[in-house]
Amino acid sequence: MRILIQSMMLLVMTGCAESGPTSAASGFLADIGGGIYVHHGEHLDIDTGYQGDICNVSIVVGSKGVAVIDTTGSLKVGKQLRAAIAEITQLPILYVVNTHVHPDHIFGNAAFVADKPTFVGHEKLAEAMQLREEGYAKLNEKFLGEDAKGSDIVIPTLAVKDTLALDLGDRTLILTAHPVAHTNTDVTVIDSQTQTLFTGDLLFIDRTPVLEGDIKGLISTLETLKAVDGVKQVVPGHGPQTTEWKQAIDNELRYLTLLLKDIRAGIESDTGLEATMDTAAASEKDKWVLFNVANRRNVNILYPALEWE
Ligand SMILES: [Zn+2]
Repeated sequence: MRILIQSMMLLVMTGCAESGPTSAASGFLADIGGGIYVHHGEHLDIDTGYQGDICNVSIVVGSKGVAVIDTTGSLKVGKQLRAAIAEITQLPILYVVNTHVHPDHIFGNAAFVADKPTFVGHEKLAEAMQLREEGYAKLNEKFLGEDAKGSDIVIPTLAVKDTLALDLGDRTLILTAHPVAHTNTDVTVIDSQTQTLFTGDLLFIDRTPVLEGDIKGLISTLETLKAVDGVKQVVPGHGPQTTEWKQAIDNELRYLTLLLKDIRAGIESDTGLEATMDTAAASEKDKWVLFNVANRRNVNILYPALEWE
């Protein structure tokens, strides 16, 4: 009886969406073939205008159930994702994977709690989420306002230490935990059936790559990913999926290598942080979306760290 009441409540709640669940969810997930669906967020900064929907989220549908890879940046958008999945399959949500700790990727987790999936992430993710809980709550409230309501932290219940296999029935997802790169909580996912690699924010396409972790770690992690055998297509953390994924990795490596070189030169010549923010990797400006804001932020984070090399 309780289960019946709960599912009736869920139906009523879903039905409360402004334009009804069907139209709200329609087109939310794009079918990229092989039982994989991707939602592409908008290329917006986490600043004025941020709406909790800027990253890629993916679902992989197996014979036993579904894995969700990242969940958007709010409960509100997470619910749109949940409704969109219900249009595709009634199979249970078995796993919710977070590729890393950043707020645009994790705050839709709350929309999946009722499904009782296993929440999966890097072995350092639970601690990182808890450390940032207060700061991210303030950030969400500032930019999302009312939409931030109920966007609670949901920590992983299954940790990836090295690699981990998730069984979806007719297909397996292989998760790999990486050393510090984009963050200290980066996980990638490979689907055995389609050889699709989900990189999280280790790879950006079109949008300027950002990092808070370790630029040398990110460069070496990208070299490692490039050498992975048999990958047929890649879904990045931001930007379109591609079969030309080695080229996409090379593009990011070109930017990061130049950024590292220019920051080191700035430190060497005592140019200072401010001036280096204006000039580092300047030749990359027209190759990426949101370049100025993202590139300056990268220099701001990396310059002080690299002074201690
Ligand atoms: Zn990120």
